[in-house]
Amino acid sequence: MKAHFLRRITRRDFLKYTADLCFKLGLSSIFLYSCKPDASITETPTPVKKSSMDRTPTPTKKPSIDVTTTPVRTPGITGSDFEPAYVKLHRTGELKERAEELWAIMESCQLCPRRCGVNRLEGKSGFCGAPGATLVVAAAHPHFGEERPLVGNGGSGTIFLTHCNLRCVFCQNWEISQLGRGIKRTSDELAGMMLGLQEIGCHNINLVTPTHYSALILKALDIAAATGLRLPIVYNTSGWERLEILKLLDGIVDIYLPDFKYWDSDMSAKYSSGADSYPEITREAILEMHRQVGVAKPTEDGIMQRGLMIRHLVMPNNTGGSEKIMEWIAENLPEDTYVNIMAQYNPVHKAYDYPEISRRITGEEYEEVVKRAIELGLTNLDIQGYWWLQR
Ligand code: SF4
Repeated sequence: MKAHFLRRITRRDFLKYTADLCFKLGLSSIFLYSCKPDASITETPTPVKKSSMDRTPTPTKKPSIDVTTTPVRTPGITGSDFEPAYVKLHRTGELKERAEELWAIMESCQLCPRRCGVNRLEGKSGFCGAPGATLVVAAAHPHFGEERPLVGNGGSGTIFLTHCNLRCVFCQNWEISQLGRGIKRTSDELAGMMLGLQEIGCHNINLVTPTHYSALILKALDIAAATGLRLPIVYNTSGWERLEILKLLDGIVDIYLPDFKYWDSDMSAKYSSGADSYPEITREAILEMHRQVGVAKPTEDGIMQRGLMIRHLVMPNNTGGSEKIMEWIAENLPEDTYVNIMAQYNPVHKAYDYPEISRRITGEEYEEVVKRAIELGLTNLDIQGYWWLQR
């Protein structure tokens, strides 16, 4: 009886059981850090050009199944016909080429609007603080606090990337984004994390603050796609993205999840380390994201697989220019554009140095923004902030 029971435990059951146990013990990130690409069901991964700092050996195990033709069972995906955008580009080899194009840009880094021009391939760091061409990851685990269509039952497979090019004074993740908390990882290891999140039933791969690591992410994605990754990619960004870089992500990202933080360039310069171009660049970036992926529409099960999901954090004393932002969205994007009006502003990090943003928002401040968005005809609003304010 006992032997029969043991034979029925599949690898997936084992991973799920281990993950549950790890979460109960608060060790979810450790569990996922230890996940590696499963070569037992793969074709040979596309060889990746090595950087001097990428020391993980290229996997060489022979494939037993050709994943380019064999359907891959994906626990987090309910619709069997879904195929994420990047799989096609992986098959044609273009995903690898795009990764190499982004990689070359790091030689005089222009990956974000700071355009530092430092040679990251020689290990130099620019404003964001990323250590050369090396990836740093703070955590990877199923996240149940993201937007409901991303969370579903299995959670959003969130990977928190260390460092940031904006460095907002009120950043709630400042230890990760500004102090650099995290562990150096290779693209192979990042691919392993993606596959681990898929294995335990997450609905997507949610890359938080990906901009300065875009080249390494695409390398990892190419490896993971060869190894059976079939979850949609969520590009969870500040919104401050160069058009030229976004065009290289066309056909790779399934869901864009940009912030739209500020309307006024004086505000973005003051609270986000001199980034006075934030409003203008973010407006252009959001239009490009919409052109690429369109309006976000969930499946019948309520899970989002593709589209644009905008986040706007309401700040005290209308610091972000919330109503102007709603007006711009209503004038420039379809009325059913997904807009999450967020109420969870919390004065952390250096926010107490600025009296006007040193408190949480009031219910009235939140309500005014929601009312204006409704008046403007926006029909796809996520207004969970009411719940947040009652906590
Ligand atoms: S990604 Fe970092 S190094 Fe590159 S331009 Fe932006 S801030 Fe500078």
